[in-house]
Amino acid sequence: MSLRRWSVEHARFLEALWQVFARLLPRLRRLVEWIGPARAERLLRPLERSLKGLLFECRMCGGCTLSAGGMACPMNCPKCHRNGPCGGVRPDGGCEIEPALRCVWLEALDGASRMRDPSGISRPQAPVDHSLEGTSAWLRTIVGNDAREDAAPPAERRASGAFERACRSGRFLVTAEITPPDSANAEDLLARARPLRGLVDAINLTDGAGAHCHMASLAAAALLARDGHEPVFQVACRDRNRIAIQADIMGAAALGIANVLCITGDHVAAGDHPQARPVFDLDSVSLLELARRMRDAGTYASGRKLATPPNLFLGATVNPFAPPYEARVANLERKLAAGARFIETQYCLDVPRLEAFLRRVRESGLEGRFHLIVGTGPIVSVRLARWMLAHVPGVHIPESVMRRLERASDPLREGVRICVETIQRLRELDGVAGVHLMAHRREQLIAEIVERASLRRDHEGKRTAVA
Ligand code: SF4
Repeated sequence: MSLRRWSVEHARFLEALWQVFARLLPRLRRLVEWIGPARAERLLRPLERSLKGLLFECRMCGGCTLSAGGMACPMNCPKCHRNGPCGGVRPDGGCEIEPALRCVWLEALDGASRMRDPSGISRPQAPVDHSLEGTSAWLRTIVGNDAREDAAPPAERRASGAFERACRSGRFLVTAEITPPDSANAEDLLARARPLRGLVDAINLTDGAGAHCHMASLAAAALLARDGHEPVFQVACRDRNRIAIQADIMGAAALGIANVLCITGDHVAAGDHPQARPVFDLDSVSLLELARRMRDAGTYASGRKLATPPNLFLGATVNPFAPPYEARVANLERKLAAGARFIETQYCLDVPRLEAFLRRVRESGLEGRFHLIVGTGPIVSVRLARWMLAHVPGVHIPESVMRRLERASDPLREGVRICVETIQRLRELDGVAGVHLMAHRREQLIAEIVERASLRRDHEGKRTAVA
């Protein structure tokens, strides 16, 4: 039987125990040299596997982060999130994928809050080194090659591009989201983007949204760029490993696409191919770090040099509307530290909850370090609202919105009104750089909302100071 919950509740005791253990382990180095590392591995591995398996449901990933993660093993997260939580935590704290499981990262935060030194939980963690899977982390502590990369990141190379310039201009931003079509005909994509021409600063092309298969985000971004739009290439960690993702980033940059939105992505269980293998070789934070390294150090993750580094303007997402609300700012901080400069949020229909998040951002001193583009969009029927609550991870629709939709004689018009009112309130908030409009396959409606909310791209909105 696993003692996982017990370990979190006794994180402070286990922390003290580990500190003593970690001091003693290197003293065994001579012994390990004498019996040989291979034999030591054979002796230690089953012991470590049994003990850590019992206490933490350890998966022997080879890159133990227990002491930095509140004594909760992140490998038990269905997305293997090493820098969680994801944005899909359910209102009751249940996991997005396995509702009966309490989110592993809520457990980690709980454990960290009991520890003498809880700072590890907010440090970005490197992705798993799969070549170490199944090997003893204790042995590496004994022989002293448990090295972590703590070197300061190289100086940031500022990206150049129309969207980056729009962000820096300080005017109120408008971006929109398009789900690439289930079609091999480019015209089907271009037709969706047409109503948005001249109205938005950038168009985000989703990468297998909701774990459903669609035209590739990279191809869609390239097609839009060729047609004179400013695309945002979205990269989800669900479907590709670090080799494929780096190749895609290089290809995107070569095609003139600078804007890259780094997300972990929905689990395959949420989509129409639940039989597919979820990859999650990286998470959003390690993906950002990898992309930043390509741009700033001019190398792949392996250290191999790039002939021409990619020009990248990096973004990420946060969800202020899903628990744990207090930890969302720490999550944001990790993404900023990893290189994100623009941040998109999940649908905002609850402005007070966003305001609480903005207060925490200010208290943490993060304001002015990034461009916050708040997601919103028209919810055009009660049926759609219920469907979103059931199927879109991390969506929060307040009761007041549900009631308005239920009472409306024309829910579509009411949905548009609610959206326009929300945008008007968002424009008044310090720290909001713009809005990100989402309306699945209703791009015409996005165009109408941009007009009705007086958000035309050339409109001189309020200015936000961003370094
Ligand atoms: S809610 Fe997200 S972060 Fe938490 S355990 Fe589930 S998949 Fe992992």
